[in-house]
Amino acid sequence: MTNAYRIAAIPGDGIGIEVIEAGLEVLDALSRRLGSFALDVENFDWGSDRYKREGRFMPEDGAQQLRGFDAILFGAVGAPDVPDHLSLWGLRLAICQPLDQFANVRPTRILPGIQSPLRGVAPGDLDWVIVRENSEGEYAGQGGRSHRGLPHEIATEVSIFTRAGVERIMRFAFDLARSRERKQLTVVTKSNAQRYGMVLWDEVAAEVAQDFPDVQWDKMLVDAMTVRMTLDPASLDTIVASNLHADILSDLAAALAGSIGIAPTANINPERNTPSMFEPIHGSAFDITGKGVANPVGTFWSAVMMLDHLGETEAAARLMAAIEKVTAAPACHTPDLGGAATTRDVTRAVIEAL
Ligand code: ATP
Ligand code: MG
Repeated sequence: MTNAYRIAAIPGDGIGIEVIEAGLEVLDALSRRLGSFALDVENFDWGSDRYKREGRFMPEDGAQQLRGFDAILFGAVGAPDVPDHLSLWGLRLAICQPLDQFANVRPTRILPGIQSPLRGVAPGDLDWVIVRENSEGEYAGQGGRSHRGLPHEIATEVSIFTRAGVERIMRFAFDLARSRERKQLTVVTKSNAQRYGMVLWDEVAAEVAQDFPDVQWDKMLVDAMTVRMTLDPASLDTIVASNLHADILSDLAAALAGSIGIAPTANINPERNTPSMFEPIHGSAFDITGKGVANPVGTFWSAVMMLDHLGETEAAARLMAAIEKVTAAPACHTPDLGGAATTRDVTRAVIEAL
């Protein structure tokens, strides 16, 4: 039997276009190889070029257009001549928020053959999943500016934390921690300095923890967390933090695991009444756009997460095994990993390894 899925591909800008092309090629090869699933892919040319032409990154009903799909594969958005806050809010968040993809999941692991910048850290010593609250918090988009340009100009950036919002991400994180071997969760806040929203996080964590007696959990302040991630990576497993804090921690995590070009992410709506979105964590990287050297591994790993989410666990495992076989070979490393391989080389190698 062949399971068929409708996939929306949004390559976006810069190297997003290059890595999504590579990702779709690999998925197509995997589907042919296994025959157990088929993808009907529709391409959306949303992004900064469209913004420069039409004043919008995507059509007004863009999020609505995506609702009928089983999953979304996203590249990257952002261009040197477009302010970053416009592209982020005009495309990524304009999809995540209406589709209520409130859980952003970022696995971090040192893949075979990849060198961590940390001294003496072996692959098994760093195996984390960071869960980022993806719908509110510091990126709720609330605030404003007054007295523009004057010395007494004021800008406010208001964080919104709702009990319902914190509780659903906390339950998601505890559930995820429970599904992993170590059943261990670290809740990251900054409740010593941010005394409303972050204290709510602490309280909700303690409440939800009661329903997960089999999960061992602890609390960390975000500043101390950066130190622990760097000096004692093996002490961590599943991590949950607010939108801003997890955004920062997951970039650190990606760097500690070897390269930002490898790291995947999933924007999940666990209720599954809207599609979830899968994307490499890196941006559009115009410094290397068009050179054919973008590392496509972050996109391939995101495709693994997408297959897992769709229930195609065998296909997901097959693709992950192929990725690990390829990263193990230094000849298949792109320049961000210190190698000389091209996007094409890596793509071909993964297809061969399938
Ligand atoms: P954005 O503004 O959308 O975040 P960016 O241009 O800042 O995009 P980042 O993704 O933040 O790009 O990456 C920072 C740098 O890391 C890039 O400029 C690029 O040199 C490198 N980089 C990022 N992703 C990759 C990749 N997939 N392969 C190789 N190098 C990468
Ligand atoms: Mg960037």
